[in-house]
Amino acid sequence: MAYLIAANWKMNKTVAESIDYIKTFKELVRDLKDVDIMIAPSFTALSSVSSLISDTNINLGAQNMFYAEKGAYTGEISPIMLKELNVKYVILGHSERRHIFGEKDELINKKVHAAIEFGLRPILCVGETLEERELGKTKSVVERQIRSGIAGLEKEVSSIDIAYEPVWAIGTGVNATVEQAQEVHQFIRNLIHDISKGNDKGTRILYGGSVNEKNASELIKAKDVEGFLVGTASLDPKKFYEIILKSMEV
Ligand code: PEP
Repeated sequence: MAYLIAANWKMNKTVAESIDYIKTFKELVRDLKDVDIMIAPSFTALSSVSSLISDTNINLGAQNMFYAEKGAYTGEISPIMLKELNVKYVILGHSERRHIFGEKDELINKKVHAAIEFGLRPILCVGETLEERELGKTKSVVERQIRSGIAGLEKEVSSIDIAYEPVWAIGTGVNATVEQAQEVHQFIRNLIHDISKGNDKGTRILYGGSVNEKNASELIKAKDVEGFLVGTASLDPKKFYEIILKSMEV
């Protein structure tokens, strides 16, 4: 599997700003092969971005999704609405969804099921808070989030990517060290290997948390880091492009 380098723009960029970015970015990455590139803009920009990237090597992602196909769920976005716009990936269980919006493992699991059912590729985000790390709970928290996130999908593990994003590293400028990332990534690989009874070859384990054009080369050297989920640094097309180039050095 090619590595996946994914941009999470969060609640940034208007439609006009998104269009400007994509016009620059698609020229930069035009000749890149053997890497999967994904951009998750805001919901309001999905349609414009989708049209602009239709003939490129850039894949479209969504930052969240509800699990039902349609119905009385004010303010939510359904899997078929994303499919209509050629969305391929959906970020689920991002730490901001868990910690600001109170999403629990059970809800996230329903969303992961719905993504698979409707042919979207989930990027399931997991990661411990600083307090949990300091209490020595990193692995137990990550294990709980993964076991419940993919419960009932043991046969579909290869259709899911996982992002390890320590909460203390997201948007803080403090990235995990290569050793810290590798330790958890290896743990996750062994865990999903067990859960799937060995059918986890299609799953990429991404690292996220203050990845930038300066630390990407080092982090990607970790054996079980198979891509990145990038927030802040992905807002600049040149920086995101540099991160992609660095991730292709291994
Ligand atoms: C993220 O939003 O998933 C993220 C990792 O953000 P940042 O790169 O800004 O830490």
